[in-house]
Amino acid sequence: MPELPEVETIRRTIAPAIVGKKITRVEVLTPKMVLGATPAELWEALRDRCFSSLRRRGKYLVLELGEPFPRRGDNEDHLLAEPASSRSTGLASPRSGGPDQGEQPWRQRDWVVIHLKMAGRLLIHRADDLIAKHTHVVWGFTDGTELRYIDLRHFGRVVFWRGNDPAVAVGTAASSNARVDRHEKGGPGRGQSGHTVSGTTPTGRPGGLSLAWRYGPQDPQQGLNQANPSEKDAMGREALLAGLIHLGPEPLSPDFTVNYLMEELALHKGRIKPLLLDQTFLAGLGNIYADEVLFQAAIHPEREARSLAQDEATRLHAAIREILTRAIELRGTTFATYVDGEGKKGEFASRLSVYGREGEPCPRCGNPIQRRKVGGRSAHFCPACQR
Ligand SMILES: [Zn+2]
Repeated sequence: MPELPEVETIRRTIAPAIVGKKITRVEVLTPKMVLGATPAELWEALRDRCFSSLRRRGKYLVLELGEPFPRRGDNEDHLLAEPASSRSTGLASPRSGGPDQGEQPWRQRDWVVIHLKMAGRLLIHRADDLIAKHTHVVWGFTDGTELRYIDLRHFGRVVFWRGNDPAVAVGTAASSNARVDRHEKGGPGRGQSGHTVSGTTPTGRPGGLSLAWRYGPQDPQQGLNQANPSEKDAMGREALLAGLIHLGPEPLSPDFTVNYLMEELALHKGRIKPLLLDQTFLAGLGNIYADEVLFQAAIHPEREARSLAQDEATRLHAAIREILTRAIELRGTTFATYVDGEGKKGEFASRLSVYGREGEPCPRCGNPIQRRKVGGRSAHFCPACQR
């Protein structure tokens, strides 16, 4: 699965090729890969607009849609009053007729959220390039280029979302729930795999389609878009967005401090390796980089998290930042199917110290690298110098 460095590399290669370009075509070849809108609705929502930004949060890519470009026959007043996307899409604003209407000028913001999961790829192509097998979504731009989503495993998803910025958690209840989950159970928090937003809402209602409240203060009614997708579609979209909302701090941002790490470690009853994989604890690490980070910090993957001393936590913090920074510089690790937005492979694979090197000598002490299941995932480590 692409981890933070790979997704960041994809973002860096794709952003300059698509941001600000007018979208002239949206083709959904595999409708089940798109959640939150039917193919026709997605086209209506995106037509004559551009992606105004492409950000990464954890392993998610978040594209924001810009204002519509003027269409022939439109005048400016009309555009200002009502973005083109809400005119005829059937994705009507849930605010219509609401009690607060008019009090605060509400402008719909539309987003496309992409999670590549196991094997998703995003590639820039010329429009006349052959469509590769397993191409699921194509966005065409005025300059004759296309962004294509390709995924031979079909696990990734493209989500259309209308509402507040999905990469900014508004409510704190959600994240503290996740915190309790991950520390009390010693297992993954609810932002990790298998979660849904099946907790309770602040009003105590069982979860179901309850994402809306987390987008809270601006508009409590604003939430699920009104495309009336099937329930399965809605649940899939909600689970995916919940994972985004519940993400822990970005490891390369100032939010990720040694103090934060110390506090979390002290609370955690489980082992360190599964905690590193818990996206609600820290965004973006996966199996490869977690193993590499623990090797660099000389910490055994089966160590109890709360047994780590301050100097070990400091080493771990530094290792997380260094390994991720280096991996981004080298454009990620190519394994199986990963390539960046230009189709290039990453160079970090040659720098891996333990991942995939079972039986080979440890680069530090020469003892053979071992592989063992820890928390259901393969951990690669040196039993001699990781303690
Ligand atoms: Zn060693």
